[in-house]
Amino acid sequence: MKDLKHIHFYEQLLDEANNDLVRKEKAEGKIAVGYTCYYVPEVLLNVGDAFSVRLRAPRTGSLDISQYYMTAFICGYSRALFERAFEGGYNFLDYWCSSETCQQMNRVVENVDHLKLVANAKFGHGIIDAPLKVSEHGLKHYMTQIKTEILEPLHEKYGVDISDESIRRAVKEHNEMCKIFEEISELRKEKNPRITPREMHILSLVSYACPTAQILPYLKETLEDLRSREADPENKWRARLIVVGSELDDYSFSEIMESCRAYVVADRYCFGTIPGRQCIPLKDDEPALEQVCKYYLDTNACPRFMSQEKVHARHEELLRYAEEYHADGIVYEQAKFCDFWGYEKLIGTAYLKEKTNLPMTSVDREYVISGSGQLMTRIQAFVESIGIKKIQKNRGANNG
Ligand code: SF4
Repeated sequence: MKDLKHIHFYEQLLDEANNDLVRKEKAEGKIAVGYTCYYVPEVLLNVGDAFSVRLRAPRTGSLDISQYYMTAFICGYSRALFERAFEGGYNFLDYWCSSETCQQMNRVVENVDHLKLVANAKFGHGIIDAPLKVSEHGLKHYMTQIKTEILEPLHEKYGVDISDESIRRAVKEHNEMCKIFEEISELRKEKNPRITPREMHILSLVSYACPTAQILPYLKETLEDLRSREADPENKWRARLIVVGSELDDYSFSEIMESCRAYVVADRYCFGTIPGRQCIPLKDDEPALEQVCKYYLDTNACPRFMSQEKVHARHEELLRYAEEYHADGIVYEQAKFCDFWGYEKLIGTAYLKEKTNLPMTSVDREYVISGSGQLMTRIQAFVESIGIKKIQKNRGANNG
């Protein structure tokens, strides 16, 4: 297939957190708000003059300093962010929003604040406490936390407009971007899809890592390009897989999948498009903040939610995706030392094995993925085993 429009530009944007589009927005006097987790509603960081940047630490090398401050037994993402902060890589940030959901990440923000690692006199941070259950009381608590830890500080410190109207404008722009992703996601259902897993991963990452207003025009052109694009005549994919798991912002993972001829039909991991790139419905006659908060709690598929209905919904959701996207298997991926996904992959695989014959595998991985021979061997073996099962099934059908 010919190169996708803007793909090289997107790759370049993903080379640093403070990329060209972030710098452009900052030059226009906008307020950069960093965050790392779905519990912090992205769209609410895009109100008024604020813009969201989901934090990454591209080109991470040694993690010695973060190891010294935070030990080696926390996930690579947390350590990489701390290391990058130590190097001054987040000096462009005006505010950092975190949540009492992953304690490892909280320690990062607290250390960044304590050691004054962001060289910005006005820099501030907020940590929200999020409920463990979706309930009326939980929603109230969540809203209060978002108001007091995120919206009000942004208003008081930087004069950001946090009115109902401003939230509605942010949702409108967010939905414009989500519509693009909804259409692109449908293309993954094609038998011989015209978009590759690597391209999809890159599109998703730039949409999180760049200001929405700046990246939107480029994404629109990419969608136009995709509409008329033709897939290669030969369908090279040997297996269609759902990937589910921890934070994953290194698209080398998808490159490894591609080199094993595995097609990622659904990206259900943090920084993926499910959830996060679906339109947020808003009614005119109810407060926007409440609706947005409710939406984020309802759609949140993080294993930190331990109530029975959420656990059950997460597993059932994977079965639904498997059917919808015609998947041949599921890959659970876990960042090393990520406790949430450590137990989720055990419970999830046990539950799904009882419900379906879908092949499943799980891998644990470092934050930096490129060149991981071990990961490639695991995926290759999994694809191979799916191929064998398909042959056996066809034989059985022919003999019967
Ligand atoms: S990958 Fe796991 S441990 Fe790391 S920040 Fe995310 S939830 Fe926390």
